[in-house]
Amino acid sequence: MPETLETSVLVVGAGPVGLTLAMDLARRGVSVLVVEIRHQGEAPNVKCNHVSARSMEIFRRLGVSSALRNSGLPADYPNDVAYRTTVTGAELSRIPIPARQDRYTARGGPDTDWPTAEPPHRINQIYLEPVLFAHAQGCPGLRILNRTRIDDVTQDDGHAFATGIDLDSGAPVRIRCDYLVGCDGGRSMVRTRIGATLQGTAVVGRVQSTYFRAPSLLGLLRHTPAWATFALNPRRCGNVYAIDGRATWLLHNYLNADETEFDSVDRDWAIRTILGVGADFQYEILTKEDWVGRRLVADRFRDRRIFICGDAAHLWIPMAGYGMNAGIADAMNLSWQIAARVKGWGGDAVLSGYEAERQPITEQVSQFAMKHALALQKQREEVPANIEAADEEGERARAHAGQALYDLNVNQYCCGGLNFGYFYDHSPLIAYDGEAAPSYSMAGFTPSTVPGCRTPHFWLEDGRSLYDALGDDYTLLRLDRGIDTRALEQAAQQRGVPLRVLDIDTPAAHGLYRHRLVLSRPDQHVAWRGDELPADALALVDRIRGAGSA
Ligand SMILES: Cc1cc2nc3c(=O)[nH]c(=O)nc-3n(C[C@H](O)[C@H](O)[C@H](O)COP(=O)(O)OP(=O)(O)OC[C@H]3O[C@@H](n4cnc5c(N)ncnc54)[C@H](O)[C@@H]3O)c2cc1C
Repeated sequence: MPETLETSVLVVGAGPVGLTLAMDLARRGVSVLVVEIRHQGEAPNVKCNHVSARSMEIFRRLGVSSALRNSGLPADYPNDVAYRTTVTGAELSRIPIPARQDRYTARGGPDTDWPTAEPPHRINQIYLEPVLFAHAQGCPGLRILNRTRIDDVTQDDGHAFATGIDLDSGAPVRIRCDYLVGCDGGRSMVRTRIGATLQGTAVVGRVQSTYFRAPSLLGLLRHTPAWATFALNPRRCGNVYAIDGRATWLLHNYLNADETEFDSVDRDWAIRTILGVGADFQYEILTKEDWVGRRLVADRFRDRRIFICGDAAHLWIPMAGYGMNAGIADAMNLSWQIAARVKGWGGDAVLSGYEAERQPITEQVSQFAMKHALALQKQREEVPANIEAADEEGERARAHAGQALYDLNVNQYCCGGLNFGYFYDHSPLIAYDGEAAPSYSMAGFTPSTVPGCRTPHFWLEDGRSLYDALGDDYTLLRLDRGIDTRALEQAAQQRGVPLRVLDIDTPAAHGLYRHRLVLSRPDQHVAWRGDELPADALALVDRIRGAGSA
Protein backbone atom coordinates (compact mmCIF):
# COMPACT_ATOMS: atom_id res chain seq x y z
CA MET A 1 0.00 0.00 0.00
CA PRO A 2 1.35 3.48 -0.84
CA GLU A 3 1.69 6.06 1.90
CA THR A 4 -1.57 7.95 2.35
CA LEU A 5 -1.23 11.72 2.02
CA GLU A 6 -3.55 13.66 4.28
CA THR A 7 -5.07 17.09 3.84
CA SER A 8 -8.15 18.92 4.88
CA VAL A 9 -9.22 19.72 1.31
CA LEU A 10 -8.06 18.05 -1.89
CA VAL A 11 -8.50 20.05 -5.09
CA VAL A 12 -8.24 17.98 -8.26
CA GLY A 13 -6.96 20.23 -11.06
CA ALA A 14 -4.74 23.33 -11.02
CA GLY A 15 -6.55 25.29 -13.72
CA PRO A 16 -7.65 28.84 -12.89
CA VAL A 17 -10.61 27.63 -10.83
CA GLY A 18 -8.71 25.05 -8.77
CA LEU A 19 -5.91 27.51 -8.05
CA THR A 20 -8.35 30.24 -6.97
CA LEU A 21 -10.20 27.86 -4.69
CA ALA A 22 -6.97 26.60 -3.16
CA MET A 23 -5.62 30.10 -2.58
CA ASP A 24 -8.79 31.24 -0.87
CA LEU A 25 -8.96 28.13 1.31
CA ALA A 26 -5.33 28.56 2.33
CA ARG A 27 -5.95 32.22 3.15
CA ARG A 28 -8.74 31.08 5.43
CA GLY A 29 -6.32 28.82 7.26
CA VAL A 30 -7.46 25.52 5.70
CA SER A 31 -4.76 23.06 4.64
CA VAL A 32 -5.18 22.28 0.97
CA LEU A 33 -3.50 19.99 -1.53
CA VAL A 34 -3.85 20.54 -5.28
CA VAL A 35 -3.15 17.70 -7.68
CA GLU A 36 -2.48 18.43 -11.34
CA ILE A 37 -1.63 16.29 -14.35
CA ARG A 38 0.41 18.98 -16.08
CA HIS A 39 4.08 19.74 -15.44
CA GLN A 40 4.85 22.77 -13.33
CA GLY A 41 4.94 25.70 -15.77
CA GLU A 42 3.24 23.78 -18.59
CA ALA A 43 1.04 26.25 -20.45
CA PRO A 44 -2.70 25.64 -20.73
CA ASN A 45 -4.55 25.92 -24.03
CA VAL A 46 -4.82 29.41 -25.42
CA LYS A 47 -8.52 29.82 -24.57
CA CYS A 48 -9.76 32.48 -22.18
CA ASN A 49 -8.95 36.15 -22.86
CA HIS A 50 -11.24 38.05 -20.51
CA VAL A 51 -10.97 38.25 -16.73
CA SER A 52 -14.10 39.87 -15.37
CA ALA A 53 -14.20 42.74 -12.90
CA ARG A 54 -15.75 40.38 -10.35
CA SER A 55 -12.88 37.90 -10.79
CA MET A 56 -10.39 40.76 -10.47
CA GLU A 57 -12.10 41.78 -7.20
CA ILE A 58 -11.53 38.24 -5.98
CA PHE A 59 -7.91 38.29 -7.15
CA ARG A 60 -7.43 41.63 -5.39
CA ARG A 61 -8.53 40.03 -2.15
CA LEU A 62 -6.12 37.18 -2.75
CA GLY A 63 -3.31 39.69 -3.29
CA VAL A 64 -2.65 38.75 -6.91
CA SER A 65 -4.57 41.39 -8.89
CA SER A 66 -1.59 43.74 -9.37
CA ALA A 67 0.62 40.97 -10.72
CA LEU A 68 -2.17 39.98 -13.12
CA ARG A 69 -2.88 43.54 -14.18
CA ASN A 70 0.79 43.96 -15.04
CA SER A 71 0.79 40.88 -17.26
CA GLY A 72 -0.59 40.10 -20.70
CA LEU A 73 -0.75 42.60 -23.54
CA PRO A 74 1.67 45.55 -23.58
CA ALA A 75 0.48 48.29 -21.21
CA ASP A 76 -0.54 50.63 -24.03
CA TYR A 77 -2.07 48.02 -26.37
CA PRO A 78 -5.71 48.99 -27.06
CA ASN A 79 -8.18 46.60 -25.41
CA ASP A 80 -10.96 47.72 -27.80
CA VAL A 81 -13.20 45.44 -29.81
CA ALA A 82 -13.18 46.42 -33.49
CA TYR A 83 -15.70 45.40 -36.19
CA ARG A 84 -14.36 45.36 -39.71
CA THR A 85 -15.09 43.85 -43.12
CA THR A 86 -11.84 41.89 -42.70
CA VAL A 87 -9.16 42.26 -40.05
CA THR A 88 -7.12 44.42 -42.45
CA GLY A 89 -10.22 45.95 -44.07
CA ALA A 90 -12.59 48.85 -43.39
CA GLU A 91 -13.66 49.51 -39.81
CA LEU A 92 -17.41 49.40 -39.14
CA SER A 93 -17.48 50.27 -35.45
CA ARG A 94 -15.44 49.94 -32.25
CA ILE A 95 -16.25 49.27 -28.59
CA PRO A 96 -13.75 51.36 -26.60
CA ILE A 97 -12.11 49.45 -23.74
CA PRO A 98 -9.13 51.09 -22.04
CA ALA A 99 -5.62 49.70 -22.37
CA ARG A 100 -4.35 48.39 -19.05
CA GLN A 101 -2.22 51.50 -18.40
CA ASP A 102 -5.44 53.57 -18.42
CA ARG A 103 -7.71 50.97 -16.88
CA TYR A 104 -8.13 52.61 -13.47
CA THR A 105 -8.38 56.19 -14.71
CA ALA A 106 -10.29 56.15 -18.03
CA ARG A 107 -13.87 57.43 -17.89
CA GLY A 108 -16.84 57.69 -20.24
CA GLY A 109 -16.60 54.22 -21.83
CA PRO A 110 -19.20 51.46 -21.62
CA ASP A 111 -17.36 49.69 -18.77
CA THR A 112 -15.29 52.45 -17.19
CA ASP A 113 -17.73 53.67 -14.56
CA TRP A 114 -18.63 50.42 -12.88
CA PRO A 115 -18.93 50.30 -9.08
CA THR A 116 -15.73 48.41 -8.42
CA ALA A 117 -12.09 48.91 -7.50
CA GLU A 118 -11.06 46.38 -10.14
CA PRO A 119 -12.24 46.85 -13.73
CA PRO A 120 -12.04 43.90 -16.14
CA HIS A 121 -8.73 42.75 -17.55
CA ARG A 122 -7.84 41.36 -20.97
CA ILE A 123 -5.18 38.68 -20.66
CA ASN A 124 -4.88 35.27 -22.22
CA GLN A 125 -5.03 32.16 -20.05
CA ILE A 126 -1.46 31.28 -21.06
CA TYR A 127 -0.25 34.38 -19.18
CA LEU A 128 -2.88 34.29 -16.42
CA GLU A 129 -2.26 30.78 -15.14
CA PRO A 130 1.49 31.10 -14.46
CA VAL A 131 0.83 34.20 -12.34
CA LEU A 132 -1.85 32.38 -10.36
CA PHE A 133 0.37 29.33 -10.02
CA ALA A 134 3.36 31.34 -8.72
CA HIS A 135 1.13 33.09 -6.21
CA ALA A 136 -0.44 29.81 -5.08
CA GLN A 137 2.98 28.27 -4.57
CA GLY A 138 3.81 31.01 -2.10
CA CYS A 139 0.65 30.54 0.00
CA PRO A 140 1.31 28.94 3.41
CA GLY A 141 -0.75 25.79 3.89
CA LEU A 142 -1.11 25.12 0.15
CA ARG A 143 0.74 22.27 -1.58
CA ILE A 144 0.70 21.45 -5.28
CA LEU A 145 1.56 18.05 -6.72
CA ASN A 146 2.26 18.33 -10.44
CA ARG A 147 2.48 15.35 -12.78
CA THR A 148 -0.06 13.49 -10.70
CA ARG A 149 -3.34 12.18 -12.03
CA ILE A 150 -6.30 11.26 -9.87
CA ASP A 151 -8.13 8.27 -11.29
CA ASP A 152 -10.79 7.59 -8.71
CA VAL A 153 -12.53 9.24 -5.78
CA THR A 154 -14.66 7.65 -3.07
CA GLN A 155 -16.02 8.63 0.34
CA ASP A 156 -17.36 7.29 3.59
CA ASP A 157 -19.04 9.02 6.51
CA GLY A 158 -15.82 10.58 7.78
CA HIS A 159 -13.59 11.23 4.78
CA ALA A 160 -13.14 11.42 1.02
CA PHE A 161 -10.39 9.43 -0.70
CA ALA A 162 -8.56 9.81 -3.97
CA THR A 163 -6.33 7.36 -5.76
CA GLY A 164 -4.11 8.09 -8.70
CA ILE A 165 -0.63 7.89 -10.11
CA ASP A 166 2.61 9.83 -10.11
CA LEU A 167 3.02 10.17 -13.86
CA ASP A 168 6.82 10.40 -13.75
CA SER A 169 7.62 7.51 -11.43
CA GLY A 170 4.51 5.43 -12.03
CA ALA A 171 4.05 5.16 -8.26
CA PRO A 172 0.49 4.95 -6.97
CA VAL A 173 -0.85 7.91 -5.01
CA ARG A 174 -3.46 7.75 -2.28
CA ILE A 175 -4.92 10.79 -0.52
CA ARG A 176 -7.36 11.12 2.38
CA CYS A 177 -9.16 14.40 3.00
CA ASP A 178 -12.17 15.93 4.71
CA TYR A 179 -13.49 17.44 1.48
CA LEU A 180 -12.63 16.93 -2.17
CA VAL A 181 -13.35 19.35 -5.00
CA GLY A 182 -13.17 18.37 -8.65
CA CYS A 183 -11.84 21.38 -10.57
CA ASP A 184 -10.79 18.95 -13.25
CA GLY A 185 -12.30 20.68 -16.27
CA GLY A 186 -14.87 19.78 -18.89
CA ARG A 187 -14.06 16.05 -19.00
CA SER A 188 -14.23 15.85 -15.20
CA MET A 189 -13.66 12.40 -13.73
CA VAL A 190 -14.99 13.67 -10.39
CA ARG A 191 -18.27 14.70 -12.01
CA THR A 192 -18.75 11.18 -13.30
CA ARG A 193 -17.88 9.63 -9.94
CA ILE A 194 -20.49 11.66 -8.05
CA GLY A 195 -23.10 10.61 -10.57
CA ALA A 196 -23.66 14.10 -11.95
CA THR A 197 -24.61 14.50 -15.58
CA LEU A 198 -24.45 17.53 -17.84
CA GLN A 199 -27.83 18.78 -19.02
CA GLY A 200 -28.61 21.23 -21.81
CA THR A 201 -27.60 21.67 -25.43
CA ALA A 202 -24.63 19.58 -26.51
CA VAL A 203 -23.83 21.58 -29.66
CA VAL A 204 -24.62 25.26 -30.08
CA GLY A 205 -21.96 25.75 -32.74
CA ARG A 206 -18.55 24.60 -33.99
CA VAL A 207 -15.51 26.81 -34.30
CA GLN A 208 -12.37 26.12 -36.27
CA SER A 209 -9.82 27.89 -34.15
CA THR A 210 -6.14 28.55 -34.88
CA TYR A 211 -3.35 30.01 -32.74
CA PHE A 212 -0.71 31.44 -35.03
CA ARG A 213 2.32 33.67 -35.23
CA ALA A 214 2.32 36.46 -37.83
CA PRO A 215 4.69 39.33 -36.97
CA SER A 216 3.69 41.24 -40.13
CA LEU A 217 -0.04 41.45 -39.34
CA LEU A 218 0.12 44.54 -37.11
CA GLY A 219 1.82 46.46 -39.91
CA LEU A 220 -0.97 45.58 -42.39
CA LEU A 221 -3.81 46.99 -40.28
CA ARG A 222 -5.54 50.07 -41.74
CA HIS A 223 -6.90 51.07 -38.35
CA THR A 224 -5.69 51.21 -34.74
CA PRO A 225 -5.11 47.67 -33.41
CA ALA A 226 -7.69 46.14 -31.09
CA TRP A 227 -7.72 43.33 -28.55
CA ALA A 228 -10.52 41.60 -30.51
CA THR A 229 -11.25 42.21 -34.16
CA PHE A 230 -14.35 40.76 -35.76
CA ALA A 231 -14.48 40.35 -39.54
CA LEU A 232 -17.91 40.52 -41.18
CA ASN A 233 -18.16 39.79 -44.90
CA PRO A 234 -20.22 37.45 -47.10
CA ARG A 235 -17.32 35.01 -47.64
CA ARG A 236 -16.23 34.15 -44.07
CA CYS A 237 -16.79 35.72 -40.66
CA GLY A 238 -14.45 35.31 -37.73
CA ASN A 239 -12.87 36.86 -34.69
CA VAL A 240 -9.17 37.45 -34.03
CA TYR A 241 -7.74 38.05 -30.55
CA ALA A 242 -4.37 39.68 -29.96
CA ILE A 243 -2.45 37.35 -27.65
CA ASP A 244 0.93 38.97 -27.03
CA GLY A 245 0.11 42.29 -28.73
CA ARG A 246 2.99 41.82 -31.15
CA ALA A 247 3.05 38.67 -33.21
CA THR A 248 0.67 36.02 -31.86
CA TRP A 249 -3.04 35.78 -32.58
CA LEU A 250 -5.98 33.46 -31.96
CA LEU A 251 -8.45 33.25 -34.84
CA HIS A 252 -11.96 31.80 -34.50
CA ASN A 253 -13.64 30.78 -37.74
CA TYR A 254 -17.32 30.30 -36.87
CA LEU A 255 -18.58 27.37 -38.90
CA ASN A 256 -22.02 27.46 -40.49
CA ALA A 257 -24.72 25.01 -39.42
CA ASP A 258 -24.09 22.76 -42.45
CA GLU A 259 -20.31 22.63 -41.77
CA THR A 260 -20.44 19.79 -39.30
CA GLU A 261 -16.74 18.82 -39.28
CA PHE A 262 -13.90 21.09 -38.16
CA ASP A 263 -12.20 20.43 -41.49
CA SER A 264 -15.34 21.19 -43.50
CA VAL A 265 -13.65 24.48 -44.41
CA ASP A 266 -10.11 24.88 -45.70
CA ARG A 267 -8.24 26.37 -42.74
CA ASP A 268 -5.71 28.36 -44.74
CA TRP A 269 -8.39 29.86 -46.99
CA ALA A 270 -10.53 30.80 -43.97
CA ILE A 271 -7.59 32.43 -42.16
CA ARG A 272 -6.61 34.49 -45.20
CA THR A 273 -10.23 35.49 -45.90
CA ILE A 274 -10.92 36.61 -42.32
CA LEU A 275 -7.63 38.52 -42.20
CA GLY A 276 -8.14 39.93 -45.71
CA VAL A 277 -4.65 39.01 -46.88
CA GLY A 278 -3.29 37.42 -50.03
CA ALA A 279 -1.24 34.32 -50.79
CA ASP A 280 2.01 36.12 -50.00
CA PHE A 281 1.06 36.64 -46.33
CA GLN A 282 3.29 34.56 -44.05
CA TYR A 283 2.06 32.95 -40.85
CA GLU A 284 2.99 29.95 -38.74
CA ILE A 285 0.36 27.80 -37.04
CA LEU A 286 1.30 27.25 -33.39
CA THR A 287 -1.67 25.07 -32.41
CA LYS A 288 -5.10 24.14 -33.68
CA GLU A 289 -7.66 24.93 -30.99
CA ASP A 290 -10.94 23.79 -32.60
CA TRP A 291 -13.85 23.75 -30.13
CA VAL A 292 -17.54 22.99 -29.87
CA GLY A 293 -19.76 25.60 -28.25
CA ARG A 294 -22.10 23.95 -25.76
CA ARG A 295 -24.64 24.92 -23.11
CA LEU A 296 -24.36 22.35 -20.39
CA VAL A 297 -24.81 22.55 -16.61
CA ALA A 298 -24.45 19.57 -14.25
CA ASP A 299 -27.63 18.36 -12.57
CA ARG A 300 -25.82 18.30 -9.22
CA PHE A 301 -22.72 20.03 -7.91
CA ARG A 302 -22.16 17.85 -4.85
CA ASP A 303 -22.37 14.44 -3.34
CA ARG A 304 -21.82 14.72 0.44
CA ARG A 305 -18.07 15.47 0.86
CA ILE A 306 -17.28 15.77 -2.84
CA PHE A 307 -17.98 18.84 -4.99
CA ILE A 308 -17.45 19.95 -8.56
CA CYS A 309 -16.52 23.48 -9.55
CA GLY A 310 -15.77 25.45 -12.75
CA ASP A 311 -15.83 23.66 -16.11
CA ALA A 312 -16.33 20.38 -14.26
CA ALA A 313 -19.80 21.68 -13.34
CA HIS A 314 -20.70 23.77 -16.38
CA LEU A 315 -19.63 24.38 -19.95
CA TRP A 316 -20.95 26.96 -22.35
CA ILE A 317 -20.06 28.81 -25.49
CA PRO A 318 -17.61 31.58 -24.52
CA MET A 319 -19.85 34.50 -25.46
CA ALA A 320 -19.23 37.26 -22.91
CA GLY A 321 -16.07 35.37 -21.95
CA TYR A 322 -17.61 34.03 -18.80
CA GLY A 323 -16.80 30.33 -18.39
CA MET A 324 -13.73 30.73 -16.21
CA ASN A 325 -15.17 33.79 -14.52
CA ALA A 326 -18.25 31.86 -13.44
CA GLY A 327 -15.93 29.10 -12.17
CA ILE A 328 -13.97 31.63 -10.13
CA ALA A 329 -17.24 32.83 -8.61
CA ASP A 330 -18.06 29.17 -7.79
CA ALA A 331 -14.69 28.87 -6.05
CA MET A 332 -15.24 31.99 -3.98
CA ASN A 333 -18.65 30.71 -2.92
CA LEU A 334 -17.57 27.18 -2.03
CA SER A 335 -14.37 28.22 -0.31
CA TRP A 336 -15.84 30.07 2.65
CA GLN A 337 -18.52 27.41 3.13
CA ILE A 338 -15.94 24.60 3.32
CA ALA A 339 -13.75 26.76 5.57
CA ALA A 340 -16.73 27.37 7.86
CA ARG A 341 -17.22 23.64 8.23
CA VAL A 342 -13.52 22.86 8.69
CA LYS A 343 -13.17 25.63 11.28
CA GLY A 344 -16.22 24.30 13.10
CA TRP A 345 -18.56 27.29 13.00
CA GLY A 346 -20.48 26.23 9.89
CA GLY A 347 -23.62 24.24 10.65
CA ASP A 348 -24.72 20.97 9.05
CA ALA A 349 -26.44 22.81 6.19
CA VAL A 350 -23.66 25.25 5.33
CA LEU A 351 -22.35 23.03 2.54
CA SER A 352 -25.72 22.86 0.87
CA GLY A 353 -25.42 26.58 0.14
CA TYR A 354 -23.03 25.99 -2.75
CA GLU A 355 -25.31 24.02 -5.04
CA ALA A 356 -28.42 26.00 -4.02
CA GLU A 357 -26.70 29.27 -4.85
CA ARG A 358 -24.37 28.53 -7.76
CA GLN A 359 -26.32 26.06 -9.88
CA PRO A 360 -29.14 28.51 -10.74
CA ILE A 361 -26.65 31.27 -11.54
CA THR A 362 -24.59 29.11 -13.88
CA GLU A 363 -27.81 28.00 -15.59
CA GLN A 364 -28.72 31.69 -16.08
CA VAL A 365 -25.28 32.62 -17.47
CA SER A 366 -25.39 29.64 -19.82
CA GLN A 367 -28.73 30.86 -21.21
CA PHE A 368 -27.41 34.41 -21.71
CA ALA A 369 -24.35 33.03 -23.53
CA MET A 370 -26.37 30.75 -25.81
CA LYS A 371 -28.90 33.45 -26.64
CA HIS A 372 -26.06 35.76 -27.57
CA ALA A 373 -24.38 33.11 -29.70
CA LEU A 374 -27.61 32.59 -31.65
CA ALA A 375 -28.07 36.34 -32.18
CA LEU A 376 -24.49 36.57 -33.49
CA GLN A 377 -25.07 33.65 -35.80
CA LYS A 378 -28.07 35.50 -37.24
CA GLN A 379 -25.94 38.62 -37.78
CA ARG A 380 -23.37 36.55 -39.66
CA GLU A 381 -26.06 34.96 -41.81
CA GLU A 382 -27.47 38.36 -42.74
CA VAL A 383 -24.29 40.13 -43.88
CA PRO A 384 -25.28 42.58 -46.63
CA ALA A 385 -23.81 41.45 -49.96
CA ASN A 386 -22.54 45.00 -50.63
CA ILE A 387 -20.78 45.55 -47.33
CA GLU A 388 -17.44 46.01 -49.11
CA ALA A 389 -18.80 48.07 -52.03
CA ALA A 390 -16.91 51.33 -52.66
CA ASP A 391 -20.08 53.35 -53.23
CA GLU A 392 -22.66 55.23 -51.18
CA GLU A 393 -24.86 52.18 -50.76
CA GLY A 394 -21.87 50.25 -49.45
CA GLU A 395 -21.10 53.12 -47.10
CA ARG A 396 -24.65 52.98 -45.75
CA ALA A 397 -24.50 49.19 -45.37
CA ARG A 398 -21.26 49.49 -43.38
CA ALA A 399 -22.64 52.21 -41.10
CA HIS A 400 -25.78 50.19 -40.46
CA ALA A 401 -23.90 46.94 -39.80
CA GLY A 402 -21.40 48.76 -37.58
CA GLN A 403 -24.13 50.15 -35.38
CA ALA A 404 -25.94 46.79 -35.17
CA LEU A 405 -22.68 45.03 -34.25
CA TYR A 406 -21.92 47.60 -31.58
CA ASP A 407 -25.41 47.48 -30.09
CA LEU A 408 -25.45 43.70 -29.83
CA ASN A 409 -21.89 43.11 -28.71
CA VAL A 410 -21.37 45.85 -26.18
CA ASN A 411 -23.59 43.64 -24.03
CA GLN A 412 -21.17 40.74 -24.13
CA TYR A 413 -17.88 42.65 -23.98
CA CYS A 414 -19.08 44.98 -21.23
CA CYS A 415 -21.26 42.46 -19.40
CA GLY A 416 -21.92 44.36 -16.16
CA GLY A 417 -24.94 42.21 -15.32
CA LEU A 418 -22.93 38.98 -15.33
CA ASN A 419 -20.38 40.67 -13.06
CA PHE A 420 -22.59 42.45 -10.56
CA GLY A 421 -26.25 41.66 -11.23
CA TYR A 422 -26.73 38.03 -10.19
CA PHE A 423 -28.22 37.19 -6.82
CA TYR A 424 -28.82 34.11 -4.71
CA ASP A 425 -32.55 33.92 -4.14
CA HIS A 426 -33.17 30.45 -2.72
CA SER A 427 -30.36 29.93 -0.29
CA PRO A 428 -30.52 28.23 3.09
CA LEU A 429 -27.77 30.63 4.25
CA ILE A 430 -29.49 33.95 3.61
CA ALA A 431 -32.13 35.71 5.70
CA TYR A 432 -34.58 37.12 3.16
CA ASP A 433 -36.99 39.95 3.91
CA GLY A 434 -39.57 39.59 1.15
CA GLU A 435 -38.22 42.23 -1.25
CA ALA A 436 -37.40 40.85 -4.69
CA ALA A 437 -33.89 41.46 -6.02
CA PRO A 438 -33.70 43.70 -9.11
CA SER A 439 -33.61 41.73 -12.34
CA TYR A 440 -30.46 41.76 -14.44
CA SER A 441 -29.41 41.13 -18.02
CA MET A 442 -26.05 40.31 -19.58
CA ALA A 443 -25.06 43.98 -19.38
CA GLY A 444 -27.61 45.56 -17.06
CA PHE A 445 -27.61 45.53 -13.27
CA THR A 446 -28.89 47.54 -10.33
CA PRO A 447 -26.77 47.49 -7.16
CA SER A 448 -28.97 46.42 -4.29
CA THR A 449 -28.81 45.37 -0.65
CA VAL A 450 -31.65 42.86 -1.09
CA PRO A 451 -30.30 39.77 0.72
CA GLY A 452 -28.53 37.53 -1.81
CA CYS A 453 -27.22 40.41 -3.96
CA ARG A 454 -23.56 41.42 -4.19
CA THR A 455 -22.81 43.88 -1.40
CA PRO A 456 -23.00 47.23 -3.23
CA HIS A 457 -19.56 48.71 -3.63
CA PHE A 458 -18.66 52.33 -2.91
CA TRP A 459 -15.54 54.28 -2.04
CA LEU A 460 -15.02 55.12 1.61
CA GLU A 461 -14.28 58.68 2.65
CA ASP A 462 -10.64 57.84 3.25
CA GLY A 463 -10.37 56.73 -0.40
CA ARG A 464 -10.35 52.99 0.27
CA SER A 465 -12.54 50.55 -1.60
CA LEU A 466 -15.31 49.20 0.63
CA TYR A 467 -14.09 45.72 -0.27
CA ASP A 468 -10.61 46.47 1.08
CA ALA A 469 -12.22 47.46 4.38
CA LEU A 470 -14.50 44.41 4.63
CA GLY A 471 -13.13 41.61 6.74
CA ASP A 472 -12.39 38.19 5.32
CA ASP A 473 -15.50 36.86 7.00
CA TYR A 474 -18.80 38.50 7.98
CA THR A 475 -18.90 42.29 8.22
CA LEU A 476 -21.82 44.17 9.70
CA LEU A 477 -22.01 47.53 7.96
CA ARG A 478 -23.45 50.03 10.43
CA LEU A 479 -24.72 53.18 8.76
CA ASP A 480 -25.87 54.69 12.06
CA ARG A 481 -23.40 54.69 14.92
CA GLY A 482 -26.31 55.06 17.34
CA ILE A 483 -27.38 51.42 16.89
CA ASP A 484 -26.24 49.04 19.58
CA THR A 485 -25.08 45.92 17.73
CA ARG A 486 -23.69 44.04 20.70
CA ALA A 487 -26.46 41.42 20.75
CA LEU A 488 -25.49 40.28 17.24
CA GLU A 489 -21.78 40.42 17.99
CA GLN A 490 -22.32 38.31 21.10
CA ALA A 491 -24.50 35.82 19.24
CA ALA A 492 -21.80 35.45 16.59
CA GLN A 493 -19.15 35.02 19.26
CA GLN A 494 -21.28 32.39 21.00
CA ARG A 495 -21.37 30.34 17.78
CA GLY A 496 -17.75 31.06 16.85
CA VAL A 497 -18.80 32.96 13.72
CA PRO A 498 -16.17 35.55 12.78
CA LEU A 499 -17.91 38.92 12.55
CA ARG A 500 -16.76 42.49 12.73
CA VAL A 501 -18.59 45.79 12.64
CA LEU A 502 -17.65 48.49 10.15
CA ASP A 503 -19.06 51.97 10.70
CA ILE A 504 -19.97 53.71 7.49
CA ASP A 505 -20.00 57.50 7.52
CA THR A 506 -19.73 57.91 3.76
CA PRO A 507 -22.65 60.04 2.49
CA ALA A 508 -22.54 58.18 -0.87
CA ALA A 509 -23.48 54.95 0.88
CA HIS A 510 -26.77 56.34 2.14
CA GLY A 511 -28.29 56.53 -1.33
CA LEU A 512 -27.26 52.95 -2.05
CA TYR A 513 -28.10 51.44 1.33
CA ARG A 514 -31.66 52.00 2.47
CA HIS A 515 -31.18 50.13 5.75
CA ARG A 516 -29.09 51.11 8.72
CA LEU A 517 -27.55 47.67 9.08
CA VAL A 518 -26.33 45.37 6.29
CA LEU A 519 -24.56 42.09 6.97
CA SER A 520 -22.05 41.19 4.25
CA ARG A 521 -20.89 37.58 3.90
CA PRO A 522 -17.36 36.30 3.37
CA ASP A 523 -18.04 36.27 -0.39
CA GLN A 524 -19.31 39.87 -0.43
CA HIS A 525 -22.98 39.00 -0.82
CA VAL A 526 -25.65 40.35 1.52
CA ALA A 527 -26.77 37.83 4.16
CA TRP A 528 -29.23 40.06 6.02
CA ARG A 529 -30.24 43.71 6.45
CA GLY A 530 -32.48 45.72 8.75
CA ASP A 531 -32.95 49.00 10.55
CA GLU A 532 -32.51 47.31 13.89
CA LEU A 533 -31.23 43.96 15.10
CA PRO A 534 -33.69 41.08 14.97
CA ALA A 535 -35.30 40.12 18.28
CA ASP A 536 -33.52 36.76 18.12
CA ALA A 537 -29.94 37.50 17.06
CA LEU A 538 -28.88 33.90 17.70
CA ALA A 539 -31.49 32.61 15.24
CA LEU A 540 -30.10 34.97 12.58
CA VAL A 541 -26.56 33.75 13.21
CA ASP A 542 -27.75 30.16 12.99
CA ARG A 543 -29.49 30.82 9.70
CA ILE A 544 -26.46 32.36 8.01
CA ARG A 545 -24.10 29.67 9.29
CA GLY A 546 -26.32 26.88 8.01
CA ALA A 547 -27.66 25.67 11.35
CA GLY A 548 -31.25 26.78 11.46
CA SER A 549 -33.88 29.05 9.94
CA ALA A 550 -34.57 32.71 10.70
C1 LIG B 1 -12.17 29.51 -27.14
C2 LIG B 1 -12.45 29.70 -25.70
C3 LIG B 1 -12.43 30.99 -25.17
C4 LIG B 1 -12.71 31.19 -23.82
N1 LIG B 1 -12.70 32.46 -23.34
C5 LIG B 1 -13.02 32.68 -22.05
C6 LIG B 1 -13.00 33.99 -21.51
O1 LIG B 1 -12.65 34.96 -22.18
N2 LIG B 1 -13.36 34.16 -20.20
C7 LIG B 1 -13.74 33.10 -19.43
O2 LIG B 1 -14.09 33.31 -18.27
N3 LIG B 1 -13.71 31.83 -19.91
C8 LIG B 1 -13.37 31.62 -21.18
N4 LIG B 1 -13.34 30.34 -21.67
C9 LIG B 1 -13.58 29.22 -20.76
C10 LIG B 1 -12.35 28.93 -19.90
O3 LIG B 1 -11.23 28.64 -20.70
C11 LIG B 1 -12.66 27.77 -18.96
O4 LIG B 1 -13.92 28.01 -18.37
C12 LIG B 1 -11.61 27.61 -17.87
O5 LIG B 1 -10.39 27.14 -18.35
C13 LIG B 1 -12.11 26.59 -16.84
O6 LIG B 1 -11.20 26.52 -15.80
P1 LIG B 1 -11.17 25.23 -14.86
O7 LIG B 1 -10.08 25.50 -13.88
O8 LIG B 1 -12.55 24.94 -14.37
O9 LIG B 1 -10.81 24.02 -15.83
P2 LIG B 1 -9.53 23.79 -16.74
O10 LIG B 1 -8.94 25.07 -17.17
O11 LIG B 1 -9.94 22.81 -17.77
O12 LIG B 1 -8.49 23.10 -15.75
C14 LIG B 1 -8.68 21.78 -15.31
C15 LIG B 1 -7.33 21.26 -14.82
O13 LIG B 1 -7.52 20.00 -14.23
C16 LIG B 1 -6.46 19.14 -14.64
N5 LIG B 1 -6.97 17.77 -14.53
C17 LIG B 1 -7.97 17.22 -15.26
N6 LIG B 1 -8.21 15.96 -14.85
C18 LIG B 1 -7.35 15.71 -13.84
C19 LIG B 1 -7.11 14.56 -13.03
N7 LIG B 1 -7.83 13.45 -13.18
N8 LIG B 1 -6.14 14.62 -12.10
C20 LIG B 1 -5.40 15.76 -11.94
N9 LIG B 1 -5.59 16.89 -12.69
C21 LIG B 1 -6.56 16.86 -13.62
C22 LIG B 1 -6.15 19.58 -16.06
O14 LIG B 1 -4.84 19.22 -16.44
C23 LIG B 1 -6.35 21.09 -15.95
O15 LIG B 1 -5.15 21.76 -15.62
C24 LIG B 1 -13.04 30.08 -23.00
C25 LIG B 1 -13.06 28.80 -23.53
C26 LIG B 1 -12.79 28.61 -24.86
C27 LIG B 1 -12.85 27.23 -25.44
